[in-house]
Amino acid sequence: MRKIVVAVDGPAGSGKSSVSRRVAVDLGLTYIDSGAIYRSITWHVLQRDGSVTQDFSFTDDIGRLDITQRFTPDGVSLTSVDGTDVTVLIRDELIARNIGIISDNRDVRNFVNGLLRKWAGVKSLIMDGRDIGSVVFPDADLKIYLDASPAVRTERRVKEYKELGKNVDENLIKKQIIQRDEQDKRRPFGALVRADDAVYIDTSHMNMEQVIERIKGLVVKIR
Ligand code: C5P
Repeated sequence: MRKIVVAVDGPAGSGKSSVSRRVAVDLGLTYIDSGAIYRSITWHVLQRDGSVTQDFSFTDDIGRLDITQRFTPDGVSLTSVDGTDVTVLIRDELIARNIGIISDNRDVRNFVNGLLRKWAGVKSLIMDGRDIGSVVFPDADLKIYLDASPAVRTERRVKEYKELGKNVDENLIKKQIIQRDEQDKRRPFGALVRADDAVYIDTSHMNMEQVIERIKGLVVKIR
């Protein structure tokens, strides 16, 4: 089988990560979570400075961060930064609140894109994010744009937080999702866009199994 790259883009809470992980396990691909890298950098800056301010700029220590990701055979994606497992830490709501400034930064984006392209040289993969099909891999073998209404996406995020044992305010999550949509779409470089050649899937009225089967069907066709 040839080596392929599947790009899955879409807004926060559209189900990209859960669906991509299952497709990866079922079809023997490696899953890469690009959002986790932006989250890891945000985590590092918060550890270093205590906050992320508007005058944030890329510094050498960020370029030297040893960020790694491992995808386990049972579909778990583990991220570490300089040897510290940050998989759970980067899901904190504080990260989501501060990530916008970090992901708007052009140098951060170049750094992350370099990392993603390096990882892609090795194995067949499915990678999710915002600009994977448009910027990181414009020649991806398959591009998918997953979407869902803000209400459905809020419900999914709240469920995710609950599963992690976190109690969250649903209204706050909805506000954040809408705010993040705006930020992700307005970004000067690497904005969330629907690539012309991406397959558009609105998952608002689909369950996860249906979305997984749909994508698996598309992957099998191009393999
Ligand atoms: O996918 P996830 O929700 O974890 O992404 C968190 C944030 O990381 C996004 O809201 C966006 O700011 C940033 N991101 C990005 N480009 C990507 C993936 C994520 O800017 N390819």
